[in-house]
Amino acid sequence: MHDWTKIIKATTVKDPASGAVNTPIHLSSTFYQSDFDHFGEFDYARSGNPTRQVGEQAVATLEGGRYGFLYSTGMAAISSVLEIFSQGDHLLVSKFVYGGTFRILTQVLNRFGITHTFVDPTDLTALEAAIQPNTKAIYIETPSNPVLAVTDIAAVASLAKAHDLLTIADNTFMSPVLQKPLALGVDIVVHSATKFLSGHSDILAGAAVTDDPALAERIYFIQNAFGATLGVTDTFLLLRGIKTLGVRMAQSSQAAQRIAEWLEAQPQVTRVCYPGLASNAGYAVQQRQAVNGGAVLSFDVGSAAHARTLAEHLRIPEFSVSLGGVESILSYPPKMSHAEMSPEEQVACGITPGLLRFSVGLEDPDDLIDDLRQGLARLD
Ligand code: PLP
Repeated sequence: MHDWTKIIKATTVKDPASGAVNTPIHLSSTFYQSDFDHFGEFDYARSGNPTRQVGEQAVATLEGGRYGFLYSTGMAAISSVLEIFSQGDHLLVSKFVYGGTFRILTQVLNRFGITHTFVDPTDLTALEAAIQPNTKAIYIETPSNPVLAVTDIAAVASLAKAHDLLTIADNTFMSPVLQKPLALGVDIVVHSATKFLSGHSDILAGAAVTDDPALAERIYFIQNAFGATLGVTDTFLLLRGIKTLGVRMAQSSQAAQRIAEWLEAQPQVTRVCYPGLASNAGYAVQQRQAVNGGAVLSFDVGSAAHARTLAEHLRIPEFSVSLGGVESILSYPPKMSHAEMSPEEQVACGITPGLLRFSVGLEDPDDLIDDLRQGLARLD
């Protein structure tokens, strides 16, 4: 079955009680138990409920895994997954990870004795050299936020397997319709479902998927114990958003490709980060492991002053944090998503003062390019 069909089938699940085509929002924290000795499938909604179950199964199906988990935010998903590790465990983490992931590793998990080393996952020799006797997993995010650095997922996963390590991949930027990390050897996929999966900038949500029953048990234990689960109303909105994931990703990524090519030819732009460009260092790997370059790009206009002028003059994209909505979103990573990093740490990850991130929505790409043209003209 093709992805677009799978998306509709996975999100349109007949309600067993009523026959409703759309999954009802079961606003019940507890479930009646008819037998004194044997309880039904659901007892308390943190442990599981029929609305969340459909959402979890849908996300699992799309990622090609058997076990899905939904959380209140992407950070709740990432933090909960990382809590399967214990004091004394060490993680190798891509130096390109999202600022919130950086924060949980450097300011929370370290306090509980889960240590990490940041590595450049594009350098497999350095990655292998960084493995310690207590290393348990390699954590990657590709393409990365915000410089869209591409990691070779299959190469990292096979290195991890050779050393008996798990691989965890944040697939937020691609979504399962553009990239399927489990099929490339990854053990656990995580998402900020706030972004492309839900697609309308209306909810916060997170997801984790695995195909390994033993790992699923460990992840479920933490999900239930920690309790950062997705509420039923937000699960309904997530399911509704996912229904258009295929068409949204196709349209937005096509538009992003056009915009990236156009930006590359503009004299005011010093660098375009987009893995769909043949000039990009990650182009060949991206071609191999993903459908296309995705719907997010970033570009450098040379200085913080230029970035400010452009942001102040663009009329169509919303100047805000986040990405993956139907509306285009322009953000300024040094002061937004990556504000947790020091200026030195930012520059080491390619987050230069003139860098803007552009999440391409569903507006007409001609209008977006016209808008960028009038905005860039202000920098002359
Ligand atoms: N992972 C990536 C790649 C992100 O971009 C984000 C948020 O921007 C997150 C995780 C965290 O997700 P949330 O904001 O839903 O907690």
